[in-house]
Amino acid sequence: MFKTPQDTPEKATRIFERLLESFQEQEINPTPLNYFVWYYYLKGDNPPFRKEMDAILKDPYGYTDRVGKRLYEQFLQDESEEDTQFDRAFRRLVDVMVKKMNLWSDKLEDHTQKLDDCANSLANPNLNAKEIKEISETMVSHAQSMNESSKAFQQEMLETSEEVRSLRNQLIEAQTAALTDELTELGNRKAFNHALEEHMLKAEQAEKPNSLCVILSDIDHFKNFNDTYGHLIGDSVLRYYANTMKKKQRANETICRYGGEEFVILLSDSSLEEANERAEEIRSDIEASVLKRKNSNEPLTKITASFGVAHFHGEPETGDQLVSRADIALYKAKESGRNQVIDEMQLTANEIAK
Ligand code: GH3
Ligand code: MG
Ligand code: MG
Repeated sequence: MFKTPQDTPEKATRIFERLLESFQEQEINPTPLNYFVWYYYLKGDNPPFRKEMDAILKDPYGYTDRVGKRLYEQFLQDESEEDTQFDRAFRRLVDVMVKKMNLWSDKLEDHTQKLDDCANSLANPNLNAKEIKEISETMVSHAQSMNESSKAFQQEMLETSEEVRSLRNQLIEAQTAALTDELTELGNRKAFNHALEEHMLKAEQAEKPNSLCVILSDIDHFKNFNDTYGHLIGDSVLRYYANTMKKKQRANETICRYGGEEFVILLSDSSLEEANERAEEIRSDIEASVLKRKNSNEPLTKITASFGVAHFHGEPETGDQLVSRADIALYKAKESGRNQVIDEMQLTANEIAK
């Protein structure tokens, strides 16, 4: 069994955009079954199926509804063990639709058969005028119901396409929620890990590993702050901290809550020096903030934070190793008196090896 990893919303959106493009380019009928087959093809995690589709698509007219149905039966119908929630819902929808399609197809066949019978009867040279009139009327009535059936069928198809669209939106919503920290509305640790993986790959491909940096930060003595003012005020400080970073967020930054009172920024296309400057900017913004109680305007104790900065060394380094160096630098910043930025260049080989 192949794996179907949980897609990020970005990935799911990309798949659907490519799917719609392909449908337009190749003039594929937008039936649920075709959506389904192409969704899995573009998702790309079933190698034998992908290979077969690649071969079919060498011929620009190679993909037809019939081919889609065969591929579905051969490769996708029973493939459910590793499905995500979205995959399962999508699969159910398609199963229902395939049944409906078969039903309609039987109905249309039935109509066609009746029309054929009428045409055959008309071929009889001995019919009188009344009989010809009767057969003609029957033919018209069959043709009409055939037309109605086909309209109803098209309507059902349209409705199902709507369902597919709404399913896609649900998927994006659910996955966005799964990657968002509720308190600060920043990405959570999982979102950070996704982004890290994606950017590490990009940095490798561009052969510029040093351009990917991580800033890890942790609020100083936050436990004392919570103990003094309570968790609710503590929570608003976490939101304030997140907003301070967001206010000056640049296009190359992914800002996430790493957990508790720890935050992380992933910077693509950035030197270690630039990442250091950005960390210093946040540090001084936080240090300069005057926090007040909402109701009484009573000033609260000053908040500071400590920062560790590291950059990616390229293969064979893993994301964990990169983050771990930022963490060691952060630890050193704490040890050296807090409220400061330390980058990995300031670490000794011994400290890194710990
Ligand atoms: P240090 O300077 O060494 O980082 O000290 P610290 O007190 O900040 O570190 P410690 O790890 O001892 O305590 C972290 C505190 O952060 C304890 C915990 O109650 C608080 N905290 C973690 N998550 C939340 C949260 O979601 N809301 C609030 N209000 N507090 C949180
Ligand atoms: Mg901490
Ligand atoms: Mg702390």
